[in-house]
Amino acid sequence: MSNVVSTVFEHTSVPYGEDGRLVRGIIARCGAPNCETAVPLPVNLMANGRGMDGNIEWQFIARKLEQKGWRIGKSATAHRCPKCFSAAKFAAIRRSGEKSVNKTEQPLQVVRENAKVMTREDRRIIFEKLNDVYIDGKIGYGRGWTDEKVANDLGVPRAWVKLLREENFGDEVGNEDIREQAAEAQAALAEIRKLEPDMRRLLALADKVEKSLAEIQKVLK
Ligand SMILES: [Zn+2]
Repeated sequence: MSNVVSTVFEHTSVPYGEDGRLVRGIIARCGAPNCETAVPLPVNLMANGRGMDGNIEWQFIARKLEQKGWRIGKSATAHRCPKCFSAAKFAAIRRSGEKSVNKTEQPLQVVRENAKVMTREDRRIIFEKLNDVYIDGKIGYGRGWTDEKVANDLGVPRAWVKLLREENFGDEVGNEDIREQAAEAQAALAEIRKLEPDMRRLLALADKVEKSLAEIQKVLK
């Protein structure tokens, strides 16, 4: 008798055929905790009673039981009756399904937590502030004010200020402001150009001084 089969299945006499006579066989028991399922299986039909290979007998029994929906393991506690086996399969499918659902939902939750939503009260406060500091579409913001400064002042995202300004007021920098900046730059450029003749004169002087300095040093040697 084989050691493999005798430890994995319970050898006994089991009823066989229409007359229910007892023949050599095994009892397969479900190894799931709290499951009492056990079925008899005649196995004497192919055993010649002596020296049958244990692995072949195990394969024969396993195949017979698997045809009936069992999961057969290599130890007595690893067997599962058809009911427990399909329950375990469904649990595994559910687990993998939950895992993939979580994978797609997690980033969404993070986004939801990070993205503040602009309330009507936020809109009102930003609008009132813009109304105070924004002059008009031609001039733009009053001196020193920008989207950034309004956002910092109110403690709201800069994008909200930009949105409300564009919706209700005008460009961040008005035409007037740009014109003023251009005029200032032109004036600065003119002043630098004015220095050009003086710079030429000074450079020529430097050349002269350098030459006479070289002659003085020659005399001193
Ligand atoms: Zn079971």
